[in-house]
Amino acid sequence: MRDGILVINAGSSSIKFSLYLSNGDEKPLLSSRGQVEGIASAPHFVALSPEGAVLAERRWTDSHLPHETLLKHLIDWVEDHLDGATLRAAGHRVVHGGARYAQPVVVDAALMAELEALVPLAPLHQPHNLAPIRALTAVHPGLLQVACFDTAFHRSNPPVAQAFALPRALSDEGVRRYGFHGLSYEYIARQLKRIAPAAASGRVVVAHLGSGASMCAIRDGRSVASTMGFTALDGLPMGTRTGAIDAGVILYLLEQKGMSAKEVETLLYKKSGLLGVSGISNDMRVLLASEDPHAAEAVHLFVYRICREVGSLAAAMQGLDALVFTAGIGEHSPEIRAQVCRGAAWMGIELDEAANAQGAGVISTLDSPIPVYVIPTDEEMMIAKHTRAVMRGTKV
Ligand code: ADP
Repeated sequence: MRDGILVINAGSSSIKFSLYLSNGDEKPLLSSRGQVEGIASAPHFVALSPEGAVLAERRWTDSHLPHETLLKHLIDWVEDHLDGATLRAAGHRVVHGGARYAQPVVVDAALMAELEALVPLAPLHQPHNLAPIRALTAVHPGLLQVACFDTAFHRSNPPVAQAFALPRALSDEGVRRYGFHGLSYEYIARQLKRIAPAAASGRVVVAHLGSGASMCAIRDGRSVASTMGFTALDGLPMGTRTGAIDAGVILYLLEQKGMSAKEVETLLYKKSGLLGVSGISNDMRVLLASEDPHAAEAVHLFVYRICREVGSLAAAMQGLDALVFTAGIGEHSPEIRAQVCRGAAWMGIELDEAANAQGAGVISTLDSPIPVYVIPTDEEMMIAKHTRAVMRGTKV
């Protein structure tokens, strides 16, 4: 009997889903995927085959439809497309698991209360991750649900890597570095172990460069440091987020410019990064194609910060044995990869221009002291594997 595993990745305006079918111990197989987008405006459901062919579509005109109605439609569609399998579990991407969760966990009322208490730590993401869990509990009470956290993979960081130099009372109440994009880093660490076991057992820096961007130092498969901290705002400049910024700037904005906390939040999360510096776009493709010098400045700042973080994360591991690029920009932009590799050439990175143009696998020369890889990430697959493992009481 095959198992159906539904993976849910919910954001502020969309609920993405992927349906996996699992047979024995083989890798779960993607059967369909899709999303409900425009949740608070004009909800639109679309289901796609793994190759991207549209399997089903539906639009609603009501902008106030409860999550339950949309989830019910999604679940009904999934149950009709199980291809003889039985829907056994749903795995959810949850941004914050706090200091406690280093592994995915089964959802119950007590866990939901704990995750609810973490909303102040990720107010822009956590509520949207929890809403579909609640809705799914209402429409399918018997279904096993598993929460998979973006913070969990980083719980292996040593205390010093998690600390801010703040008074102890604040650290004790949870003001510390958590790190994010953990499901992506965990997937990459496992892929690298298959592709290049020697490198994977050493000191690796992974650059997850998407519209959200961060980097992680991984030693022998375990996260030891990352660029994101208390929130997903720290570290690299991103599509619309600042990345690391002198806290004094925030004080200046509040005290001298009279901005409200909400205005500062919007500035830091929505109006900064590539968009803010270029004044043109948050999309790297648009900036790379632009002749505008401000677009080039935004790209330069992005690359400059990545290069500095390669050095910083290597210092945290006392060396570097491999560099990996992943996510939208990391997987698809030879130009950005080339610029980063040029900036990190002093460490012993030699780019193979032809391999870089091709885009996948090893993109460094055979003689490069530090090999460089491009590995596509798959957070949904990681969630599916975790959910299956929790379901069976095994390990991934
Ligand atoms: P998310 O963080 O939303 O999951 P992705 O990992 O899908 O994002 O990355 C999305 C970003 O990847 C886009 O904003 C775009 O800037 C960038 N991107 C995608 N394809 C390319 C490309 N060919 N060249 C440069 N950037 C790209």
